[in-house]
Amino acid sequence: GGGLVVYSEAKPDNGMNAITSTEAKPHNGMNVISSSETDGKKKRVVVLGTGWAGTSFLKNIKNSSYDIQVISPRNYFAFTPLLPSVTCGTVEPRSIVEPIRNIVRKKNVDVHYWEAECFKIDRDNKKVYCRSNLTTNLDGEEEFVVDYDYLVITVGARANTFNIPGVAENCHFLKEIEDAQRIRRTVIDCFERASLPSLTDEERKKILHFVVIGGGPTGVEFAAELHDYVNEDLVKLYPKAKDFVKITLLEATDHILNMFDKRITVFGEEKFQRDGIDVKTGAMVVKVSDKEISTKEVKNGGNIYSMPYGMAVWSTGIGTRPVIMNFMKQIGQPNRRALATDEWLRVEGCDNIYALGDCATINQRKVVEDICAIFRKADKDNSGTLTVEEFQEVLDDICERYPQVGLYLKEKQMYSLVDLLKDSKGDDVKSVEVNLEEFTLALSQVDSQMKNLPATAQVAAQQGSYLADCFNRMEKCEKNPEGPLRFRGEGRHRFRPFRYKHFGQFAPLGGEQTAAQLPGDFVSIGYSSQWLWYSVYASKLVSWRTRALVISDWGRRFIFGRDSSGI
Ligand code: FAD
Repeated sequence: GGGLVVYSEAKPDNGMNAITSTEAKPHNGMNVISSSETDGKKKRVVVLGTGWAGTSFLKNIKNSSYDIQVISPRNYFAFTPLLPSVTCGTVEPRSIVEPIRNIVRKKNVDVHYWEAECFKIDRDNKKVYCRSNLTTNLDGEEEFVVDYDYLVITVGARANTFNIPGVAENCHFLKEIEDAQRIRRTVIDCFERASLPSLTDEERKKILHFVVIGGGPTGVEFAAELHDYVNEDLVKLYPKAKDFVKITLLEATDHILNMFDKRITVFGEEKFQRDGIDVKTGAMVVKVSDKEISTKEVKNGGNIYSMPYGMAVWSTGIGTRPVIMNFMKQIGQPNRRALATDEWLRVEGCDNIYALGDCATINQRKVVEDICAIFRKADKDNSGTLTVEEFQEVLDDICERYPQVGLYLKEKQMYSLVDLLKDSKGDDVKSVEVNLEEFTLALSQVDSQMKNLPATAQVAAQQGSYLADCFNRMEKCEKNPEGPLRFRGEGRHRFRPFRYKHFGQFAPLGGEQTAAQLPGDFVSIGYSSQWLWYSVYASKLVSWRTRALVISDWGRRFIFGRDSSGI
């Protein structure tokens, strides 16, 4: 890297000269670049990341009173739900990506994109430090600083190796387009290597042993996709390899697809058994070398087994990106997996910083504290006693502010506590005793049982459009707040809190069969769900261009099969 370029509003600072042009020229060693597009009145919104949350925010922002700067090492949006299909050539990589400049081009909003990675966030000075990942900069200046008025953090997560030795060096991950392309090449390489004349059968078996670690939706979908690829396409081209191929799926808990309905788990396990995919549950990977994977039996005394393998794909969950880890230390949130936000997606303890998608979670502990505060506030005379009506109002307030908690209280019948009290104390009861300590205890149970929102594209996209909607109506809602009453300070919150709507989830199981878990615990498994999967995914693609490409890829696959050139 070279000198540090400061990208700030046009204010010469400490003797440094400002260049009022976006075309930066080196100046006195330290460069100040100011945006000619920024007229000084516009608030600058800096968006970090062009994934599900970031893109959804950018697609939905309509208010032209912002100057929006997007920073991401990836100049495209990737439709991750189809990544497993890319690993086996069912869908081409280009069909599931859309350049970010295409997405923001038609807008009447000022949006500028910089291909760079943010490596430091400075909350106190409202700056983000960025490093370009392009090596074509002739001046050698790869680092720059961007000022913000509002910061929207949507940098997602990274694959989590849990620091298990050898995983990072020897396993494939399935997170980015490049990962999927690498897996595709390696699968074909394995088949070509196993076909070489000089090998023993034992060596062929090892090379064609594909191990998937992690029985979540991604691992399961990849295993199913690979099984179809091998059996529908590759065995025709490598007939001898058929006897040597083996796919193993390792899962540390008792079952695969844990987050789904039991019926789906059972169906998936039985289908994989019929297909010859070896599902090993209760097997925790403890070490991966270039030749072997060592697993420890979770039960039965923790015996250690080693299995030789040809290719391993690691899909066990997500971890925190280094930039977020550093930022969390800076703002006093160490030892967390993700940035804690409130229900308005504001990062706790930071002004004008929002975090959404996989890099953030709504802090439940804070929610519990807030709910206790609602109770204290309702108890105006500090007597520890509320009237029945007041108590009902408190519950209504919780539902409005914290829909997830409200839902939980309703599910657990806590909502009808008032009726219960009336039942036990007689109809003429006018007040109920609210013991705050006991209530806090009950809430901490709510806290542990109330699930965090899952790290999915569905959540990220909804959060992106929610936040864009807030930004679109910022001025209007300053004057006419629409949110619930505040219990700290006076008045109402500017916006309604974020509410997640769950539309269900899919688990493709191969052989044109998919399991779908739809709202209301409706479960559908089989060929019809596969068609539902095709139509939902086609409709969710980000543009008509990608939609047309993906549909033609599916058609090509039906007619000609998958490509096996490994390119
Ligand atoms: P991402 O989409 O990961 O985007 C993060 C962005 O930040 C990227 O553009 C990245 O380049 C950028 N970035 C990273 N570091 C920096 C930095 N330092 N500075 C600036 N920018 C940075 N979810 C579903 O709901 N349904 C599915 O079927 C589904 N299938 C999946 C299949 C696979 C194989 C995978 C990997 C995930 C799947 N998911 C699915 C989960 C879903 O992809 C994630 O939950 C979603 O991508 C999260 O969105 P995000 O915007 O938080 O992060």
